[in-house]
Amino acid sequence: MVSKEVVIIGGGISGLSSAYFIKKYLAAHCGHPTVNITILEQGHRIGGKISTEIAGDFMVEKGPDSVATSNEIFMELCKDLGIDKHLVAPELSASKASVLIGKQMRNLPDGLAMMLPNSIMSMVLSDLLTPVGKSRAALEVLLPRGSIADESVASFVKRRFGKEVYERLAEPLLSGIHAGNPEHTSIRCAFPYLAEFEDNFRSILLSGKKHSNRTAGTVSNSHRRPPLMSLDGGMGDLPNALVKALGSVNILTHRGVNSVVPMGAHNGKHLINMFNGETMSADVVIMATPAYSSAKMISGSDERLAKILNSIQYRTVVTVSLAYKNSDIISYPKGSGVLVPKIEGMRLGAITWSSLKWSSRAPSRTLLARCYFNDAYYNDTVTMDDQAIIEMANDSLCTLIGIIGKPIMSRVHKWPMGMPQYTIGHSQRVDYIMSKLKGHKGIFVTGAWINGVGVPNCVSNASKAAADVVDYICKSA
Ligand SMILES: Cc1cc2nc3c(=O)[nH]c(=O)nc-3n(C[C@H](O)[C@H](O)[C@H](O)COP(=O)(O)OP(=O)(O)OC[C@H]3O[C@@H](n4cnc5c(N)ncnc54)[C@H](O)[C@@H]3O)c2cc1C
Repeated sequence: MVSKEVVIIGGGISGLSSAYFIKKYLAAHCGHPTVNITILEQGHRIGGKISTEIAGDFMVEKGPDSVATSNEIFMELCKDLGIDKHLVAPELSASKASVLIGKQMRNLPDGLAMMLPNSIMSMVLSDLLTPVGKSRAALEVLLPRGSIADESVASFVKRRFGKEVYERLAEPLLSGIHAGNPEHTSIRCAFPYLAEFEDNFRSILLSGKKHSNRTAGTVSNSHRRPPLMSLDGGMGDLPNALVKALGSVNILTHRGVNSVVPMGAHNGKHLINMFNGETMSADVVIMATPAYSSAKMISGSDERLAKILNSIQYRTVVTVSLAYKNSDIISYPKGSGVLVPKIEGMRLGAITWSSLKWSSRAPSRTLLARCYFNDAYYNDTVTMDDQAIIEMANDSLCTLIGIIGKPIMSRVHKWPMGMPQYTIGHSQRVDYIMSKLKGHKGIFVTGAWINGVGVPNCVSNASKAAADVVDYICKSA
């Protein structure tokens, strides 16, 4: 039997896990069609946004620092790779995050359903909202269902809970963590459960108990895990473990792909042209790249598809990791981090107290903080030079916790167009792309832009793409 050539473009978690699942599913499902898998990555390293740097005595995450454990496909992958034993929970003392209100850090309410309170009690006990804000939010239990098919996160939250819950809770959670502007983000794509709660139960506050049951069901069938975990050696151990498990898969870096062109209906193959002039032919191509990259690759053969792929918006994220001696901090922070609402008028979106949240990330008597900036409201941060960004982050930290010395370690990581945005109409765009791709036999897509930006979502999307690829290979064998 002639072996099939499978080329995966993009060596981030989506590309690596696609390769892993193709091997796994082929071994389990159909005869033994032989495949050669090649991963083409434009950069000098594998892992995409997942990257851990050991900076002297500090462990710095350049991209993700934790993963949601509610995704069973992701948890099974960790088990397969033998890294489940290295998953670590945040420190108990850092279980709470806070929100900056009037330059003071106030705890997030307990029992949030995604980003909104899921019980009246949690809201009443929280000091995040004023009595007026709490009263308005409590009216949520009386409100009828909305009538709009899809709406922005801002419109949904203001409609159900009022302006204060939006400004103090939903907006900072969405823009600080997901780099999104809630005025444009689709509630149905970014927080589908919340829209479903309204559809199914009318009131989100009254659905609190049902939500807890549902979450428990997705967390684990057998036992509960902390909702967020990291790897003791840093998130970079995930792509490293995948590379090790991929064995015979050919992984080539410095291989940016320029275009993917059909070689003619008669042989069903695709010609892959690289920026360095090399070419390859493949029976199956998976584009595990950002939507705008995939758009460029396919624009020569399907202009309309490329246009829709290109219409998926991205936002830039900049992270700044700064370390200080404890003796240089006047007001030592508590908890896992701080979200900064837009109404505070700062450029800063959020801070993670990395050394408080995770053990062994920094030497004793030091604080490692990671500041997030994005271009949801200020779009010039990415063009500032690193020193100016460090000064901006340092100034923000001085305001919040009173720093009297200089940082003893600093790192800036820029991710231009690093976060896909699920703007209103996103699910229709994705449906269109998927149906249009059916006309391009042997071409598949996966990645963070489809259905969840989190690393576990990327893994489950890759699993789905791999299952489709295996089905295609088995049918055409
Ligand atoms: C600062 C930051 C913090 C985050 N924090 C978290 C978190 O805590 N938890 C979480 O779950 N998620 C987090 N995320 C999101 C998550 O990291 C990403 O969504 C996920 O890693 C994306 O993986 P991917 O493989 O789809 O894309 P990428 O990681 O972007 O990989 C795509 C790869 O394709 C390559 N490529 C692009 N174009 C071409 C081309 N033409 N030819 C060849 N190769 C190409 C790129 O170089 C890249 O390596 C964070 C993201 C950022 C930026």
